Amino acid sequence: MFHRKSEKIVSSRTSTLNGKNFSYKLIQSPNARTVRLKVGMHSGLEIIVPRRFHLDHVEEIFAEHEQWIIKQIGKLENRKKLREQRQLQDGSMLTVLGFHCKIKIIENPRKKPSVKKVQKLLFTEENAIVDGMELHVSCDGTIRQAKEALEDYLRTVAEKYFLKRTTDLAEQMGVTFNNITIRGQKTRWGSCTREKNLNFNWRLILLPLEVAESVIIHELAHTIHMNHSKSFYGLVERFCPDYRKLQKHLHNPQFLV
Ligand SMILES: [Zn+2]
Repeated sequence: MFHRKSEKIVSSRTSTLNGKNFSYKLIQSPNARTVRLKVGMHSGLEIIVPRRFHLDHVEEIFAEHEQWIIKQIGKLENRKKLREQRQLQDGSMLTVLGFHCKIKIIENPRKKPSVKKVQKLLFTEENAIVDGMELHVSCDGTIRQAKEALEDYLRTVAEKYFLKRTTDLAEQMGVTFNNITIRGQKTRWGSCTREKNLNFNWRLILLPLEVAESVIIHELAHTIHMNHSKSFYGLVERFCPDYRKLQKHLHNPQFLV
């Protein structure tokens, strides 16, 4: 194969360290002056060498940095495992309004995607008791459609929850509001307009209940104070003393849906 001198040559290869196979990418780069080892979440292990580097020496470099490579590959595998756990799949657990629900994905491509809430019952000699909750997601079997169906379902749950809870809390706080809209922006939890229309993110129902409530109280306080002044926080903390602590849950949470 012919390569221009300025081109990088990338090849995928495998090697063995400590009896364990691993794959890596060999990058022969005209810009590289020394040999470099790099590990990335998506790229995996890379060894970048100058174009004139004799490839027989690659194994020597690996042997020299054996400990480092083994450690880095281990870390990478752990991170991948963690990421998989954070992805929705059959059997995943989802906490909805404080209830732990097991997700069951049921392949049913002919029917419209839907979600059914199922109480798992445990039978004793005298009676039956509720022993956990399951959400049966009926869809074409793909994670994409399962997520869409779950989102539709959770939005309707969120609508009911926010309408009820905001009405209750407004009464306690002695304030009024106009309309509630449920939204799904990735970065915004809630907002309040000058017309006292409130917006809430449906994903709040996947966080601890007190956290969702603290957002409701925050937005309701805006119906009195359209700012983040001292008196605004005074009102918020009167009805939510743990406000500052609860807000920490809103920083970068990981959701399955
Ligand atoms: Zn605010």
